[in-house]
This record gives sequence, C-alpha cells and structure tokens, in this order.
Amino acid sequence: MPYGEENTSMPSSLPEFPFDRYIRYGELTALLTETAKAHPERCRLESIGKSYEGRDIWCVTVTNFATGSDREKPAFYADGNIHATEVSPTTACLYLLHKLLTEYESDPQITRALDTRAFYLIPRVNPDGAELFLSDTPRYLRSSTRPYPFDEEPVEGIKREDINGDGLSLQMRVPDENGAWKKHPQDSRIMIRREPTEDGGEYFRLLPEGRITNYDGVTFGVQRIKEGLDLNRNFPAHWRPEQEQPGAGPYPTSEPEARALVAFITDHLNICSAVTFHTFSGVHLRPYGTSPDDTFPAEDLWVYQKFGKVATELTGYPAVSVFHDFKYHPKEVITGVFDDWCYEHLGIFAWTTEIWSPHRQAGITEGFDKETKPGAFRFTTFSRDHDPDDDLKLVRWADEKLEGKGYYDWQKFDHPELGMVEIGGWNIFYAFRNPPPQFLQAEIAPFADWLLHMALCSPQLTIYAAEATPLGKEHYRVRLVVQNTGWLPTYGSKKALERKVVRPVIAEITLPDGATLITGKSREELSQLEGKANKAAGNNGYATDFTEDRAKIEWIINAPQGGTVTLSARHERAGQHSRTITLPSPSSTG
Ligand SMILES: [Zn+2]
Repeated sequence: MPYGEENTSMPSSLPEFPFDRYIRYGELTALLTETAKAHPERCRLESIGKSYEGRDIWCVTVTNFATGSDREKPAFYADGNIHATEVSPTTACLYLLHKLLTEYESDPQITRALDTRAFYLIPRVNPDGAELFLSDTPRYLRSSTRPYPFDEEPVEGIKREDINGDGLSLQMRVPDENGAWKKHPQDSRIMIRREPTEDGGEYFRLLPEGRITNYDGVTFGVQRIKEGLDLNRNFPAHWRPEQEQPGAGPYPTSEPEARALVAFITDHLNICSAVTFHTFSGVHLRPYGTSPDDTFPAEDLWVYQKFGKVATELTGYPAVSVFHDFKYHPKEVITGVFDDWCYEHLGIFAWTTEIWSPHRQAGITEGFDKETKPGAFRFTTFSRDHDPDDDLKLVRWADEKLEGKGYYDWQKFDHPELGMVEIGGWNIFYAFRNPPPQFLQAEIAPFADWLLHMALCSPQLTIYAAEATPLGKEHYRVRLVVQNTGWLPTYGSKKALERKVVRPVIAEITLPDGATLITGKSREELSQLEGKANKAAGNNGYATDFTEDRAKIEWIINAPQGGTVTLSARHERAGQHSRTITLPSPSSTG
C-alpha cells in the first residue's frame, strides 16, 4: 500500500489499553501519544499545563473532526486522579477513550456521539502525586507534591511507613489498657470497638504502621504529611482559606493542576456536563456540597436527579447530594471542590464519582441508619459507625477474593518506641483505595455508558431551514431557522442563565460582493432554545409542545443573482453550523 493510503481508522493500529493494572506516567504518555497517532481523524492530544514538578497534564479530545472541530460541538468533560493515590480514575477515562475509538461505526450511539459531540478526557490531573504512589516504594500523599503550608520536616508523631520490611503499609495494634479497640469474639484478627461500659478485658490502640519521631514515652499524634495540599479544595467556588478548609492552598487556583483545569474549562464553554473520577466509596456525588437541594433552581435539580437515576441503573452506585448524603460530619462542609465550581460558576452539570466499594463487594448494603435510610450504604455513615458483623463480612470477603493481599494476620514486632506490638490488618492501599487489578475492568466499564448518555443529552443546535426567496429584481428575503434537537435547553442549566455565562443563539449573514442588507443586521442575537428536558410529563389535553425549540430570523437583501450567501448560527454550549445558499433567479421560483 503506497504511503499515505493506509487506513488509519483500523482498530489494529491502536495500542493495547491496560485495564488490568495501573500505569505510570511514562507509559500513560506513550499510550496517549500512540492513540492520537493511530486515530488523528477522531482523537487529538494536547498538554493543558504543567504539574508542579513540570509534567504535562494531558487532555485527549475525541470527536469526528470530519463533521466539525470540537469547539463547534457541545462537549462532555471527564477527568481523574487529582488525588495522588486515586489511580483507577485514570483507567476509567482511558476506558471511555478506548470505547469511543473502537466502537465508532459499530455502535450507532457512539457514532452519533462523535459525529455531533466532543469529549475532553484528562486521565491524570495530578501526575506528580500518582508517580509517587505507583513507584516501587510508594508514598501516599493526598495530592500535590508541593510542600504546604510549611516546607519543613515534621518533628514529632507517627510517620506512616513500612517498618518491618514486608514492603507494606499496614496497621499496628498496641496493647493498652485504655485502648478503644478489642478483638472480634468470632475472629481475633478483626479489631472492633470496646463497649461503652466494658472493662477488664484485653484492649488495644490501633495505629498506622510506623515509627514515632521524638516520642516522649507517653503521648503522640500522627505526623502531618509535609505535602498538605488538597487540589480538590483549590477551586474557586465557596473557597475558604487553609485555616478553615485544610488543603485549600493560599488562594483559589493557586496550584498549577487546578489552575489548568479551570483555565481549560472556562475556555471551553461548549462543556455541558462533566464527571471527575475519584475513589473510593461507590457513589456518584453531585452539588451542592454546602447547601440543601431546595436552594437549586428546580429544573436543574430535576436534571441532576434524572442523570443520577440513569447512573444508578447503569453502575449500581447511588447518586446523592453531598450536602444531604455525603458529609463525614453533619455540621462540616467541604469547600473549593471541582463539581461545585463547575455547577455554581458555569452551570455545568458536574459530578464526582467515587469508584469502588469493598463494602458492597462484601455484601454490606445497609448503613447504620438503615431504619431511616434502608438499602443506602454510604461510606460516610459506615466510617462513623457500623455493626461489628460488617467487619466480619469485609474480612471474609478479603480472605476469599483478595488472595491474601487485602487483610493480613497480625505479626509480632519489637517496636523501637512502643515495645512489643503487632503489625497486620488492612492493606488499605490494595483493598480500599482502588479496585485491586483483577476487579478494575468490571468496576469501571459501566461508567462509559453513563458518560455517553450525558453527552448525548446535551443541547444540539441545528439548521432547520436556510433559504432565499426572490422579491423582484435583485431583492431577496433570506430566512434562517434554527432548532435545538438536544434534550437539554441550549443554555444547559438555569444556573448558566443565572450566571449569564451563555449568550443566546447568534445568527450571522455573510453577503456576496456588491450586496447590501436592506433590513436586519449582519449579526443578530436570537433567543435561547428550549430542549425536551424541562417539558412536563402530563399529557392532560393542553398543548404544551409549542416551538420553543425553534427560532427564525429573516433579512431583506439587495444582491446580484447567482451570488452566494452564507448563514451561520452558533451557541457557546449547543454548537455551531453554517449553510451557504445560492441566490436563485426570480424565474426559477415558479
Ligand atoms: Zn479523591
């Protein structure tokens, strides 16, 4: 086959995507580069900024470029791995990328999605933190590797690290008559809480495995990690300073990773909905983080609820409000997070999906509040309180499914500061933080269909009619009719309207040389166009389906016959189109 004639759309030219292991930055970069090379007609790779340590933050744009650039289409956004140890989110983005590229043409939904929409995928927002987690001797940071708020080594407390040389970071149980923990009566490996009035038994303190710096013999805390930033507290909406919101950073978007996302998203007003992938808990979280549902514009809440219902059907994860159903402490909120910012400032329907639930894997489906919220397991509630039987279920599951790598039996260890202790228990970084590799693909695969669904729910501006009617010699009435064929209205959300981030549909006419406009302006602002999302379901005999999805504009022009007129319509969120028409001669119109 001569050079230049090879069929670049052959899936065989796509590199192999690893869905059964976690990849480091070099491999990720090579994979994305090869993928973009294999499918230049549907996939482009760009760096949207550099991390603190200078690594490129990669963004893959996926669309059928033959039907228009990404910016001319409504778009869906997904990212992952803003938190250092949360690497399955990278794979979730890669899974969608792979599916979009390999099932184009074979799956009509994906064909339509790439022909009419664009996808922006940022698989690894925080490459520096992920690189430490995935190294041969892992370090476990919350997110950025930048020291904050102080660039100094801690001088006291327990430092989480492997101290018995087994290469794992587990727990220590330390005999202590005032300890809050005891052995489970049915399985002495499992630690459960001591009863309120209980006395006279064998009790322990439960601590992370590690040495104690500058131990005074009686008191200690857990050592602060020098890299104290949380990039998902650094976004502008509801941002609060470090003293009120740990990890927030010195000012909103102070950190290059968060700043890169904010700059990218504000520069792509075509983004209608978004998911940021995190771990873990097995839940889809939506705004608000700081206020109750009745503060939402009602239509936006209904859209969120409909997206959430589809999410639960497809993935099995509940879809909940952070404020109502995912607070670790009922009186404390978390601020400066990505999804609140996307929705609050830009009216983007953004979600935070927490991948993976070992608890549901173990058959734990009820929370400790099961009387008031039956069937609603949530990690926030579990972490506050739960039945000791649930601990049994979890460890049994680890014993059966995790090949001995999830829960370790306790081994005696002569601790330099604490004396004889035992090291064992959960390997949380294997069992909890991400799906263990053998579970990875099954866990992330269902998300792709949900993301695709939301992408296809976007508004979609189309040209319904573009025509010129002769009005005698060299005069024409030019008419452009546009409509929104999408489910969401052109403005996306009521919040976007409230924030004035989206203009109405803009129509433009470009005249041939020698032509003049008699009436109308060359650029006109039309209205917003409704979609189908906000139509009521009641078919009660009243006509409600009038043409709010359609708008028309007419110009009278003076132009030579046979000239061409270009009509275009665009909307930041709903896409853009243009049509060129030839001015007919008066006789040709019968
Ligand atoms: Zn996270």
